[in-house]
Amino acid sequence: MSFDVRRVRADFPVLTREVNGCKLAYLDSAASAQKPLSVIEAESHFYQHGYAAVHRGVHTLSAEATRAMEDVRHQVARFIHAASPEEIVFVRGTTEGINLVANSWGQSQIKAGDNLIITEMEHHANIVPWQLLAQRTGAELRYIPITDEGRLNIAKLDALIDNRTRLLAFTQVSNVLGTVNPLKKLIARARAAGITTLIDGAQAVIHQAVDVQELGCDFYVFSGHKIYGPTGIGILYGRKALLDEMPPWEGGGSMIQSVSLQSGSTWNTAPWRFEAGSPHTGGIIGLGAALRYVSELGIDNIHHYEQQLMRYAQNKLATVPDLVIYGPEDRAGVISFNLGKHHAYDVGTFLDQYGIAIRTGHHCAMPLMSHYGVPAMCRASFTLYNTEEEADRLTDGLIRIHRLLG
Ligand SMILES: *Cc1c(COP(=O)(O)O)cnc(C)c1O
Repeated sequence: MSFDVRRVRADFPVLTREVNGCKLAYLDSAASAQKPLSVIEAESHFYQHGYAAVHRGVHTLSAEATRAMEDVRHQVARFIHAASPEEIVFVRGTTEGINLVANSWGQSQIKAGDNLIITEMEHHANIVPWQLLAQRTGAELRYIPITDEGRLNIAKLDALIDNRTRLLAFTQVSNVLGTVNPLKKLIARARAAGITTLIDGAQAVIHQAVDVQELGCDFYVFSGHKIYGPTGIGILYGRKALLDEMPPWEGGGSMIQSVSLQSGSTWNTAPWRFEAGSPHTGGIIGLGAALRYVSELGIDNIHHYEQQLMRYAQNKLATVPDLVIYGPEDRAGVISFNLGKHHAYDVGTFLDQYGIAIRTGHHCAMPLMSHYGVPAMCRASFTLYNTEEEADRLTDGLIRIHRLLG
């Protein structure tokens, strides 16, 4: 199947907007992606025609809403090739998924003197929960450094692993450098040493097919809003055997089997044990529509188109004088750069005048900014609705800014 970006763009209503008198070029999807009409309509249809509380009612609407929600759990399981829908936990997003694992699995498994390994290129969401866990338990946090090219320095891994290493947690694709990490190799190395693995898939699941069973990871997390779904909904995948052993994290309704003021409470089975309180049902239904949208376009078609676009954009951007691009050439989704000595905020503000939306700042990856010795970077993301024309406009905009600011 050929990939028709014009037709794809027509599915996203916001892309027809003008910003500062120019056509919007939305190059900030790595922060949050726009939503196709099918997602907006699925959520709206639910609120208009089928809204009710889930799990608690015998009435028709409640039963329908519960079925719709559980159908999405099946759909997510198929999307990432989990062995069972019972391995899929609905969370608010990547951040909450990692915090859940750090608090439930971490709190019950990690002891003083243990160590946890992450990497220098993690998003804060995959650093801070482990720092907090390390503080609480007396464990040590270690990290795999990166090379200046922006790849993990895997050669350093063996020296970090010892018989007290309990976790290896890392991102599949860097949200700053676009580096695609050698997942299978790292997971295999961890497994051979009996180390639990968690993969931050927030930037990966949008660009390529994911098969958690083939990868062999223990946990995999991603956010709905980056894969064209609603905000406030995300997925934690956990291997069933692990989830079954994990204690609850948050307590409340839905996660219990019984509650007694005299003898305490007993817990529901996984995954429901980890879903205390009323879920974001509208968001879950929107996520289902988003995954359907991506599946119908075909994740492999998306991957192919984006790779082509990325090569085009990199070649174009190479023509901008004084532009420093960070990260390896074979990248996914994002290009981070700085223009001469100009602060990223200034560059981003100028580009906005031309209707071009990019991200500026530390990208929730301050350790990575320290590595490169910069306070901030500009980041342009390219995804399934972006075009070569937008890469041209970004390039022209940067050349103009270079001329203006010198
Ligand atoms: C966006 C992002 C996160 C955080 O996702 P939230 O949706 O904000 O929870 C974590 N890791 C990576 C790599 C990201 O890109």
